[in-house]
Amino acid sequence: MTYDLVLANGRVIDPETGLDAVRDVGITGGVIRAVSDVPLEGTERLDVGGLVVAPGFIDLHSHSADLAGHRLQALDGVTTVLELEAGAYPVARAYRQAELEGRPLNYGFSTSWAAARMSVLAGVDPAASLEVLLANIGRAEWQQPGNAEATARIVAMLEKDLADGALGIGILVGYAPLADPAEYLAVAALAARAGQPTYTHARELVEQDPNTPIDGAEEIVRAAAETGAHMHYCHVNSTSVRHVDRVLGLVERVRAEGSKVTTEAYPYGAGMTGVGAAFLAPELLHRRGLSPHSIGLLSGGRFADDAELRAAREREPGSAAFVHLLDEEDPAQFAFIQKALAFEDAAVATDAVPLIRTPDPAAWPLPADAASHPRTAGTYGRVFRQLVREQALLSLPEAIRRCSYVPARVVPALHRKGRVQAGMDADLTVLDPETVADRASYAATVAPSEGFVHVVVNGRFVVRNGALLPESMPGRPVRA
Ligand SMILES: [Zn+2]
Repeated sequence: MTYDLVLANGRVIDPETGLDAVRDVGITGGVIRAVSDVPLEGTERLDVGGLVVAPGFIDLHSHSADLAGHRLQALDGVTTVLELEAGAYPVARAYRQAELEGRPLNYGFSTSWAAARMSVLAGVDPAASLEVLLANIGRAEWQQPGNAEATARIVAMLEKDLADGALGIGILVGYAPLADPAEYLAVAALAARAGQPTYTHARELVEQDPNTPIDGAEEIVRAAAETGAHMHYCHVNSTSVRHVDRVLGLVERVRAEGSKVTTEAYPYGAGMTGVGAAFLAPELLHRRGLSPHSIGLLSGGRFADDAELRAAREREPGSAAFVHLLDEEDPAQFAFIQKALAFEDAAVATDAVPLIRTPDPAAWPLPADAASHPRTAGTYGRVFRQLVREQALLSLPEAIRRCSYVPARVVPALHRKGRVQAGMDADLTVLDPETVADRASYAATVAPSEGFVHVVVNGRFVVRNGALLPESMPGRPVRA
């Protein structure tokens, strides 16, 4: 038997079976055909001795779905990029566009509650476009409570998209915080009927806004219990911040009672949003324990006082700003992030944002002034450098599990990914455990990670010997 490609002598880690041993991996036709302790023959046989062969990383939460974003994420060990939190509507159009352009990594989308709601309540044509969604996200019309008829229309739109292969329903309820909790339950009930998850950006917690119609964490767990839906709690780190103990305690309790609630987190203390966002008004910052000094424009330092922040909000409300919700340098604050990442069965997910100042997403290398949040380029590298090597919060196999198998278990359509076993998709990340690291920072925001030596998608190299292969486009759609 001769395989198309053999990755030879690597330390193979398979989170599902617990395999952690030196093996040859034989790949033919984009599928893993053999994982063997005797040498395999291949048309190409690449020695990966001393390196770890892991299932390719699956990012459940990436808004960076274009070519430039895929390439940066490939260099960070990712093989499947999913836009599940915001989603896309109509979902068939998002798949069609990615298919026409080609993608290096596998891709998939949920349908978008926010886009459907904007269409029904604000007359927006969503066009399966994140740009359209972001351009309208601050408009009051779509954020209002809807009536029963509006809810019925929104649910019907989402139902059609689920039939078209959407990987569940993304619910940005935190951006329409006055939406009726009954509508949220109706959407969760639809997901339960369809057998697909929902992915929520939670509403405010009561500690953050005592006037919220319902506590953001309570709403998610209640929907799981009442409808039976699988509720995935997006970036539990950044919406829970200092209240992560209460939120995770709640999730733990309802899980013990049989509800299906999963979580994800990213290893950064800063979020990113337009500097004009409502919650960044100087008079509201105290609710999150923030000050003007917690906020800085992408292109400059942090604000000194209320007056500077006010001026920027008036001058350039749409400009991207880092919001340092937690200070990464302060161990007590970093502990909140660690808790979210170390929580049982929490997935690592990036919340990667679209690159700015990249007029041609197909151009590689990126323009010198391209920018993003460092989590776009560095999340996975940072997990291995910081949480595995420096802080020993996670073991190497456990970190790999949270980047691959755990997310694969969230989305039913990923049942052949996140595993290094015969019969599984040949999406593999080959990393050097001694050197793998992020290089992106708040100053150098798109510096690619290092130490992800080879990245294989459907049996083909996207990254080889640490270098991106710009011509390689083996990504395939992942559909329900
Ligand atoms: Zn979000």
